[in-house]
Amino acid sequence: MTLDFLADATGIAEQVINWRRDLHQHPELAFNEIRTATIVAEELRQLGLEVATGIGKTGVVGILSGASDGPTVMVRFDMDALPIKEISPAPYVSQTPGVMHACGHDGHTAIGLAVAHLLSPHRSRMQGQVKFVFQPAEETSNGAYAMIEDGVLENPRPDVALGLHLWATAPLGQVGVAPGAIMAGADIFEIVIRGKGGHGALPHETRDPLLAATQVVNALQSIVSRNVNPLDSAVLSVTSFEAASAFNIIPSEARLKGTIRTYANDVHEIARSRLHEVSTGIATAMGCEAEVMCTRLTPPLVNDPDVIPVVLRAIAPYIEPNRILPDLKTTGAEDMAIFLEHIPGCFLLVGAGFTDGRAIYPHHHPQFDFDESALPLGAAMLASAVAAYVIPG
Ligand SMILES: [Zn+2]
Ligand SMILES: [Zn+2]
Repeated sequence: MTLDFLADATGIAEQVINWRRDLHQHPELAFNEIRTATIVAEELRQLGLEVATGIGKTGVVGILSGASDGPTVMVRFDMDALPIKEISPAPYVSQTPGVMHACGHDGHTAIGLAVAHLLSPHRSRMQGQVKFVFQPAEETSNGAYAMIEDGVLENPRPDVALGLHLWATAPLGQVGVAPGAIMAGADIFEIVIRGKGGHGALPHETRDPLLAATQVVNALQSIVSRNVNPLDSAVLSVTSFEAASAFNIIPSEARLKGTIRTYANDVHEIARSRLHEVSTGIATAMGCEAEVMCTRLTPPLVNDPDVIPVVLRAIAPYIEPNRILPDLKTTGAEDMAIFLEHIPGCFLLVGAGFTDGRAIYPHHHPQFDFDESALPLGAAMLASAVAAYVIPG
């Protein structure tokens, strides 16, 4: 029996789009995905999956068991929205003030339900099981950790983990399937520079932390340009500079915040250690002291080289070879990376950009939207990749 998941997905496309639009109208922030999780759990139960809720606070896990033993394939979907006020003429605009699905996670949740619908009719032929993981709080980078703490990677432990992100800046019909690190590891940092405040007219009696902080901002730009190997890549952005407060007061403290993005551990180590050295060295030279705090949010997202060929074979019937992008990468971060640190897997970037002339806005923009035709295509590709592991050909 030949499986045509794209035909099956197209058959339920209207339902999938309805799920997405309903979720889009009712977005929920990290760890508050209560309505969303209720809908997900109910749909999975109706399909006969064994469902557990409250995993990682608001996460949902559904197990689709086959008729006989075999590998466990995890498929992961994120459910949370962002604190953004949506600007949209669409009839499905957010009904929750100041909250918006501006990253496409409404689409991911709808795709997850579609994959369950596509695979559940085949359970009698299935050798192994599918673990559906609907994750909270991706945007705050702690939902995956919360689910792992609650045991999502055990009983059963997945042998492989698959997932996807709708990608509005790639046109509909293109798919990124790249080996290695495709999304960056992300650190956040904060630097507090302390000096001695005083009168703005008497700078010689102060140790000015504001002036020191401006030198630190400049010098930090030398890390990527002068410390990181030019053949590697990294980002270091200072995104916040605070120092109070009046025209005639030299403050006693200045505060910088920012982020580091890297794809490899050695580059990450260089950037982190130089962040400390540059900040403390410059502050000292300027008569101040710097306290540097740097926290890793997520590791790089690394696709497993053994899983990639299986996925490529599985999606081949649904996408032309020249529409597969083997080097689509981004300096954005994704906490799917945390699951992929433990379980080999593959994360697809599914092109969802409008191709009919409608404006394309980036993820996290108040006018973000995507082409919903990507929903059945994404579901078909993912279902086919799962089937490659658990449904004998
Ligand atoms: Zn996002
Ligand atoms: Zn996202």
